[in-house]
Amino acid sequence: MPTAPRRKMALAFAPEGPSSVAQGGSPVRSCAMPSHLQFTGRLAPSPTGAQHVGNARTYLVAWLSARARGGAVKLRIEDIDSPRIKMGAAEQAMHDLRWLGLDWDGEPVVQTQRLSHYEAALDVLKQNELIYPCTCTRSDIASAASAPHAGEEVTYPGTCAYRCVADAQKLHDEGRSFAWRFRVAENVPFTDLFAGEHHIDLKHAGGDFVVWKNRGGPAYQLAVVVDDAAMGVTEVVRGDDLIPSTPRQLLLYRALNLTSPQFAHVPLVVGEDGRRLAKRHGDTRLSALRDAGVKPEALVGLLAWSCDWLDRPEPISPRELLPRFRLESIPAQPFVLTAELLRQIGYSAAT
Ligand SMILES: [Zn+2]
Repeated sequence: MPTAPRRKMALAFAPEGPSSVAQGGSPVRSCAMPSHLQFTGRLAPSPTGAQHVGNARTYLVAWLSARARGGAVKLRIEDIDSPRIKMGAAEQAMHDLRWLGLDWDGEPVVQTQRLSHYEAALDVLKQNELIYPCTCTRSDIASAASAPHAGEEVTYPGTCAYRCVADAQKLHDEGRSFAWRFRVAENVPFTDLFAGEHHIDLKHAGGDFVVWKNRGGPAYQLAVVVDDAAMGVTEVVRGDDLIPSTPRQLLLYRALNLTSPQFAHVPLVVGEDGRRLAKRHGDTRLSALRDAGVKPEALVGLLAWSCDWLDRPEPISPRELLPRFRLESIPAQPFVLTAELLRQIGYSAAT
């Protein structure tokens, strides 16, 4: 495998401009985080589906973690996954957040308005020969890779890793579509603020990963790194299903010469069967609770109790929770949302 030259080019952001960072806030520079930069958290709903009780719990933790320290909260709409985006879902997500009592600073950052920034980052990766064009289909990878154990993702077998960036031109001339893959040359251990130390061997857990999709557009990993850096995010609070993404994103922060935020991955909300909250557990969309007359303070109280900030699930607002917030008091196990708990806040989830 060729040794890729590293960190020759840095990604330069222009803080001004129409598709730049939120208007109304101070200009944010991302290449180096000055020590005086404000503590900044973020809420990043994806409008691929409605926000449900599980999302609400993570947003509440993220918001409290930032606001309890006098920090800023930024909002980003993660709408680049275009085939799955539902019309009006971004507005719905913002409505859901406001209903919960969560606010944010500045205008929302919308990923579909930031393509030029992702392209600039891709160029840096190309110039430093950190990525290569991959023509594999999903089935190519599945048949070439050793069968994963249940629950593990398929590790990319490196079929196209012999290619260099310049090979893309030939593929393009031949009319072949390709994705761009990041060459995983090292592992990045990290210490999660909630979930502790993680040493993920990326070469054997996923391998080289896609940063640009073969149908065009950035992959999730690239977009969130570019965005979080540009938005001055210093702490990312999200569900622990995204732990495997973190070492990949840390590699991208290094490759783009950006300062990485700290991460806090919190346990998810699951149904009574122990599985991640989904349609099979009934309608737990925030809009359904709202339509059924559930008060947001009742839901926030239930979630606060699930995080051990309250002795009982009693109505409370996010702002009233600020002095009670402790990241470390959140139980390490997933929160089991039962029909009985929902009934206690005045909701019967129809299945
Ligand atoms: Zn390939």
